[in-house]
Amino acid sequence: MRGLRAALLGLLFTAAAAAQPSLPEPVQLRGDWQQSALLLGQAPAGTQVWFESRKLRVSPSGAFVFGLDRDAPAQALLRVQLPGQAAQDYRFDVERREYDIQRIEGLPPKFVSPPPEVQARIKAEQQKLGAARARDSEIDGFAQSFAWPATGRISGVFGSQRILNGTPKQPHYGLDVAVPIGTEVRAPADGVIALAETDLYFTGGTLVIDHGHGLNSIMVHLSRLIAQPGQRVKQGELVALSGMTGRATGPHLHWGVYWFNTRLDPQRLVPAQAPAAP
Ligand SMILES: [Zn+2]
Repeated sequence: MRGLRAALLGLLFTAAAAAQPSLPEPVQLRGDWQQSALLLGQAPAGTQVWFESRKLRVSPSGAFVFGLDRDAPAQALLRVQLPGQAAQDYRFDVERREYDIQRIEGLPPKFVSPPPEVQARIKAEQQKLGAARARDSEIDGFAQSFAWPATGRISGVFGSQRILNGTPKQPHYGLDVAVPIGTEVRAPADGVIALAETDLYFTGGTLVIDHGHGLNSIMVHLSRLIAQPGQRVKQGELVALSGMTGRATGPHLHWGVYWFNTRLDPQRLVPAQAPAAP
């Protein structure tokens, strides 16, 4: 009996997991409905698509993109309107993802907030970053397979978070690659330089690359910026040298990927690193 019950339960769970809606045949999606994932879509030209409340830019060839945040809720709404048809809603389940959470208790209380005199500066810098991330350009780098901006040991994964004396700190919204100062940093996909700042308070030398349709990369703690604001860059093009500027605790490249303000895991966009040459 117990075996049968387990089997039936198993079937039920399989059915629940498979209960994602089917999109009309000419609309294709690539990617996982899981927190921190990017989804790429392809639809007939002239199709209109909304993700949650945002109308997506659909390229002349029918390509579109959207992302699921690190902490995306359990359901997401996609609305599709094929040319000449009524709009249809599709509700997808979003799989939760486990992140590396570290609880550290009994730390001596320490003042770690930035001093009050830099608050105005930080606010102005956040606004600049926000403006760079708000771009919704027709660049098509978003649809490429991404490449590593630099390779090396992963010293920090996306989504990790420390809880110090019960207070959750901001999660880590990027991927850290441990590389020596001066390592070449390359564009992970085609794009346009949306922001190039040599000295931001938290992130030091900072570059934002607009890959189109709201998808953007940020590279921080750079020691030298090579690409200029507004410059078009190709995948693999040298854009900066790594460093440890801003509030970095050691030399590394921090690479973040955002869809507008939605935090995505860069590591899901790139293949496994090739093993180091012998
Ligand atoms: Zn980092």
